[in-house]
Amino acid sequence: MKQVISLRDLEALLRQGQDLRQLPADALLTPAARDFLREWEAGQLGARNGSTPARDGNSGPTASASPAGPPAELSTQSPPAELEAFFHSAWCQQLKEQICDIGRRLWLREYVDGNGGNLAIRVGKDLALCTPTLVSKGFMKPEDMCLVDFTGRQLCGQKKRTSEILMHLQIFQRQPRAVATCHCHPPYATGFAVAGLVPPTCLIPEFEVFASVAVAPYRTPGTPEMGQLVAELVDQHNTILMANHGVVSWSHLNLEDAYFKMEILEAYCRTVLVTAQLGKPPQTMTPQQLRELLKIKQELGIPDPRFGLKECELCDNDQWRPGVTCAIPPRPAPEADFDPEAEKAVQVITDEILARWK
Ligand SMILES: [Zn+2]
Repeated sequence: MKQVISLRDLEALLRQGQDLRQLPADALLTPAARDFLREWEAGQLGARNGSTPARDGNSGPTASASPAGPPAELSTQSPPAELEAFFHSAWCQQLKEQICDIGRRLWLREYVDGNGGNLAIRVGKDLALCTPTLVSKGFMKPEDMCLVDFTGRQLCGQKKRTSEILMHLQIFQRQPRAVATCHCHPPYATGFAVAGLVPPTCLIPEFEVFASVAVAPYRTPGTPEMGQLVAELVDQHNTILMANHGVVSWSHLNLEDAYFKMEILEAYCRTVLVTAQLGKPPQTMTPQQLRELLKIKQELGIPDPRFGLKECELCDNDQWRPGVTCAIPPRPAPEADFDPEAEKAVQVITDEILARWK
């Protein structure tokens, strides 16, 4: 009797690390299993050819041999079997590994604590791949990942999706260019978020070119209201300080680029604090120097609310010089010169007062 193989059987074989090309030649496949196998074989072929991802260009360090992407029209309208097939495809596997890799880097850099932080990648018209809840970002496995629709409903994956997914999804909905999002709690940047301060600008080129920072007011993490306040800022900013909480960034390139915003912001916030302790006012760039950096930023497709402002406006703009808030306080006035005559008079008066008390 011929063996009947279902989609579920194929998934189980993959989980066991089996090669689906070794199926019995005369096995009967269910329609969903046949679709899945076709998708899987296409992915394997892509992996061997080293083709690049077809859709969003996610190409982190683990993506050197990228398999073929998902069906172009993948969405919540796709049949469940197609979603499952995608979720277990070699292409999706590569994205899951990329998420684990970035999670590890967040943890190693101490940008996350406990089970904090979460990551998401847009994978279809209204679908995202994301991290699970209650797992340290330093120790995730590809099989921990979750597929959700843009309302946060989980479609695939064994672990439960992160409780903060709504914020990521609201960013994807508001900012169509966002292909990946990264949320974590890096201590120096979070310090600025707790103080409700945008870091001062005009000090270091990398920060000016790659990050556009704003502060979103505090709301309970994971609530639609929190996501709404963040989403309202992502037209013009790619890195949002969440007051009394942490930071979230988005990238128009890939997940690693969203993570790079965190490295750039955190290094910058540390540097600003070191500068503030050196007892010398920081030397800032001139408006002309900033203008040149903003030109590069615009060419790279990175948003910034300062594009198009005149140089004098750049200098007047609040966002141009919030650094006044972080400025080093003026040195106390030097003590008056020592005057021996005055000292003598003070001594006489003091002696007289003490003599009366006796
Ligand atoms: Zn958080």
